[in-house]
Amino acid sequence: MAEDVEMVDLDGVSSMTLAKLRKVGLTTYEAIAVTPSREIEDLTGMGADTAQKVTQLARDKIDHGFIPATEVLEQRKLMLRCNTGSPDLNRVLGGGIETCAITELIGEFGSGKTQLCFTLSVLAQQPVEQGGFAGKVCVIDTEGTFIPERIKQIAEARGIDATTILQNVLVARAYNSEHQTILIKNLPQVVQKNNVKLVIVDSMIGHFRGEFIGRGTLSDRQQKIGACLAALLRVAEAFNLAVVLTNQVQAKPDTAYGDPNKPTGGHVMAHACTHRIYLRKGKENTRIAQVIDSPYLPEEKARFAVDAAGVIGCEQ
Ligand code: ATP
Ligand code: MG
Repeated sequence: MAEDVEMVDLDGVSSMTLAKLRKVGLTTYEAIAVTPSREIEDLTGMGADTAQKVTQLARDKIDHGFIPATEVLEQRKLMLRCNTGSPDLNRVLGGGIETCAITELIGEFGSGKTQLCFTLSVLAQQPVEQGGFAGKVCVIDTEGTFIPERIKQIAEARGIDATTILQNVLVARAYNSEHQTILIKNLPQVVQKNNVKLVIVDSMIGHFRGEFIGRGTLSDRQQKIGACLAALLRVAEAFNLAVVLTNQVQAKPDTAYGDPNKPTGGHVMAHACTHRIYLRKGKENTRIAQVIDSPYLPEEKARFAVDAAGVIGCEQ
């Protein structure tokens, strides 16, 4: 568990430096250790040498170097999986949405990405024995599609107290990519303070696509997206929480056969996300989800439906 730097000494670090770290929300060894020292420099205004020393000391506190894979196996047993509302979708996900990982929901408009996020916002708060994470939820809303009334409806349809659910969903509206980046970089502080176990970014790439137009801007855009994704993965690992991102698809004009749509965000997005789930519309209110890129899950398909209770199982 994350320890507060106030409680423990970072040997040889002045109280003034510790105060600077605390001021920008770097209040735990984990938060300091996972933040690149150059970023600590920028955030706090401390010198490069101090920032490097602080990062190193924090890393020493939490990093045990190389460890046997058996120990990794033990650590991975602490990972949790959140019920999605659909038993079939849980099955193809190996039990549900995983902590210590980024799960990317890909699909065209209306494919159910946001509906799944809303459902998870309710279900992640449930006790672990009931398939939840027993924690709060943090939502970065980049498109203004966060609708609390819909979360309320989902909770009520499931017989769960909606007021408590809404109190435990912390929402920030990101108005542009820079704002989104700041919100992501500040996550360690918010997560630590509120016992957040699920972070949602709906959607991850939208602002970047809208703002970085033209070939010349591509590498800058990809680099910035990459930095955000790296920060998200660090938070997922450091705090044993789940990160869920949504991503739209973009038509490939040169496709002769097969699916003409591909996820936005390019290779940076493809590599950073642990599990990619492709959502498609099915008949009526049904949807098809397919795992398309995962280090250990087979590329299976699942069916689910969307109704008042959000994502639910789907009778064949
Ligand atoms: P976008 O890329 O535009 O954000 P999305 O994949 O996030 O799309 P969702 O908002 O998840 O799309 O899905 C919208 C669909 O969810 C609606 O078209 C409708 O079919 C279904 N839906 C939304 N609210 C309800 C509800 N209260 N009851 C039943 N179905 C609903
Ligand atoms: Mg949406």
